[in-house]
Parts: sequence; structure tokens; C-alpha cells
Amino acid sequence: LSDRLTESLKNLRTKGKLSASDVDGTVREIRRALLEADVSLDVVKKFTAAVRERALSDDVNRALNPAQQVVQIVNEELIEILGGQQRRLEFAKNPPTVIMLAGLQGAGKTTLAGKLAKWLKKDGHTPMLVAADLQRPNAVTQLQVVGEQAGVTTYAPEPGNGVGDPVKVAKNAIDEARRRQFDTVIIDTAGRLGVDAELMKQAADIRKATNPDEVLFVIDAMIGQDAVATAKAFQDGVDFTGVVLSKLDGDARGGAALSVASVTGRPIMFASTGEGLDDFEPFYPDRMASRILDLGDILTLIEQAQEAFDEEEARQVAEKFATDSFTLDDFLKQMQQLRNMGSIKKMIGMLPGAGAMRQQLDDFDEREIVRTEAIIQSMTPAERRTPKLLNGSRRLRIAKGSGMTVTDVNQLVTRFEQAAKMMKTVAKGGVPQVPGMGPI
Ligand code: GDP
Ligand code: MG
Repeated sequence: LSDRLTESLKNLRTKGKLSASDVDGTVREIRRALLEADVSLDVVKKFTAAVRERALSDDVNRALNPAQQVVQIVNEELIEILGGQQRRLEFAKNPPTVIMLAGLQGAGKTTLAGKLAKWLKKDGHTPMLVAADLQRPNAVTQLQVVGEQAGVTTYAPEPGNGVGDPVKVAKNAIDEARRRQFDTVIIDTAGRLGVDAELMKQAADIRKATNPDEVLFVIDAMIGQDAVATAKAFQDGVDFTGVVLSKLDGDARGGAALSVASVTGRPIMFASTGEGLDDFEPFYPDRMASRILDLGDILTLIEQAQEAFDEEEARQVAEKFATDSFTLDDFLKQMQQLRNMGSIKKMIGMLPGAGAMRQQLDDFDEREIVRTEAIIQSMTPAERRTPKLLNGSRRLRIAKGSGMTVTDVNQLVTRFEQAAKMMKTVAKGGVPQVPGMGPI
């Protein structure tokens, strides 16, 4: 992370809501960091505008200071653009599944064909490689070598199965795969050094003829600012269902990933990280997000801040139990929090036939809370703090005052004592004993 960004994060106030000038300063540095990572200017502008808007809304995290809030928002938005959840390959209902590769020459398609085949094979699939790059003399041989390394069959054009015509080769290959019961066909295609109308048409024709389940656009992460134009050209010329980023082992910061994902709206599905067939993995949007902003350390700090905050809240409650300072007021507060469980009720309500049950839940909670409130409100502050004071005559007074019976009051006190005792055991690290049930 640039020192300036770190500095700008340090300068933000340590607690509270973000001000517009806090946000602007930090957004400026984040914009610089993105441009340094080779994200295209248009994407940077769109992205920072979205971050700014969100940072100034009420959607903030109480556990974090303003600097951490901005970083968290940036991180979440990056992950979202990069595809949010990782997307998996779509497999055809009726095999073979056809996966076509497209991209510029040197992007890493042929290498990827081998990587993908090896990976699929390990996963129990039976892939077949198809040499539909008939542009360079040694392209077919290169794919055959890769296929051998991956331990899979390679379909290559021979007299009779379409020498010189990649569309025919691809179609014949699929027929052959169906006959020989391969469940996946990976079609390697030709590329040129720059975007080229003739080869684009060839790729589009192969796509039309083979109707692939996936068209993967392979792009070299090192090409930086050219990524957007290249990706757009392939989207217009061939279109694709997913992106594969190659050469992420280099020192590219991965800005290309963000640009391509943002401009094409297609998910990045795999990352290639070396020349070997095992240098390949599904793409993880969260890892890429922290790589782009070089955020690794800062994100760890944010996680720690969040955890410390959660722990502090839990510790305060546990402390109350452990030191016997859990009062009837706390008990009432907890019951009232049950009212916030509306979401759970809603969920139950969506289950088929749960209407009656939902009604019962509503009635139960409300009546229970109303009774508890009435009883506790009839107690003196001292009684609420020290329930041991509640002798017979006090209980009678409370019952009368709240319009309940002494039995109701007794039941409430018993429930409170059981809860306090159980929580005290838990707070001290023991195993609670539920009456009549043994250890839980
Ligand atoms: P194609 O023209 O798109 O088929 O690209 P190739 O698969 O032939 O790859 C071009 C060059 O890039 C070869 O020398 C590969 O070994 C190399 N290559 C492919 N993928 C990667 C990668 O992820 N990292 C690195 N460092 N090199 C790669
Ligand atoms: Mg190739």
C-alpha cells in the first residue's frame, strides 16, 4: 500500500461517523493506488464514486474507526466487482460439456487447456483437448505435448477430419468425444498479437458451430491498460461467459482483473500463476481485492478490530454473570431483545404450513414479555438489583401491584435464577447443568 494511503488512513479520526472530507482524502489516495495497479481510469472513476456514496451513507460499521470503515467499504466493493462469490464451471446436462478458449496469442490459452484438463481429470472428469489453432505450424504439437503432460487425449486434425478448417475440426472433435464418452471437450483456438478481424471471425464461427457451455476469455494480467480494449473487442467479436487471468505470478498488481470484470460484467473464474500445469487455481475475488490495493495487512487489522469489538461486548455480559451482577433489569432487557427476532419469525413463516406456528410464536413472545415487564416494573430498584431480597411479603406486594398471581412472580424469579446460574457456569468456563437433563 502506498505510504500516502497509509498516512491518509492514520489521519482520520479514531471513532465515529465519517465526514465528507475524511472520505474525500482517503478516496483520493485509493484512486491513486488503483491507477498504480493499472486499473483503467473509467473504472477507477466509477468505482471511487460508488465508494464515496456508500461511505457517506448510514451504512457504517460501529466497530471500526473511520479509516477502517473506508477500507472495509473499498474492499467489499472490489470483491463485488470481481464477481463476489466465486463462479464455477457450468457442466452440460448431456455430455460432453464444451469449453472453448479465446484470447490473444501468448495469453496462455494452450497452457490453460492443459491446466484445466489436469484439474478436471483430478476431479473425476474425462476431458479431451481439441487443437483448433491451425494458424501456427507448431500449435498442434504444443497442445499434444501439454495433453500428454496432463495425461489426457488430444484430438488433432488429420486428413479426413478437417485439416486446415478449425470449425470442422472442432465439430468433428465433439462428435468423436460423444462417441468415445469423454465428458468434457476443451477447444484451444488461435490468437494473434493484436485484435484481428479475421481471427475474431474464426473464433466466432467456432463458437456458433459448437455452441459451447463455456467460452473462457484468457487474458495476460501483465498487459495493464490494454486489458479493457482487448476484453471489449473479444466480448463484441466472440463474447465469453467467463474470464481467466494468466501470468499472475508476475509482478502485475492485478488491475487488469478489475478493469475487465467491471467493463464486461463477466466473472473471473480462474487464475493462472506459472508455466507448470499445476500453477492454476479457481479465482478468489477476496484475495485479488487485497492484492490490488495491497491491503493484506490492513484487512487483518480490520478483522482484529471487529473481533475485539465482538469480544468486548460478550465479555461485558459474561462479566456480569460471573460477578453475580446480572440483574432482573438485565433479564428484562434480554427478553425485550427477543422482540428483535422478527426475522426468525419471518423465516419460519415462509415455511409451508407454518402459519399457525407463527401465530403461536407471536402470541407467546408478546404475552411473555408483557407479563415479565409488568412484574419487574412493580419491583423496587433494590429488588431488581438484588433478587435475594424477594421474600414472601414482597412477592405478594409485587403480585398485587402488577395484577399477577404470586405463582407468576415465583415462576419469574425461578426462571431468572436458573438463567443466572447457568450463565455463571458458562462464563466461568464450566459445563452448565440443566435441571433434569444432566450436562448439556
Ligand atoms: P497461447 O498463445 O494463448 O496459447 O499462449 P501459450 O499457452 O502458448 O503461452 C504463452 C507463453 O506464456 C508460454 O511460454 C507459456 O509457458 C507462458 N505462460 C502461460 N501461462 C502462464 C502463467 O500463468 N505464468 C507464466 N509465467 N507464464 C505463462
Ligand atoms: Mg496457443
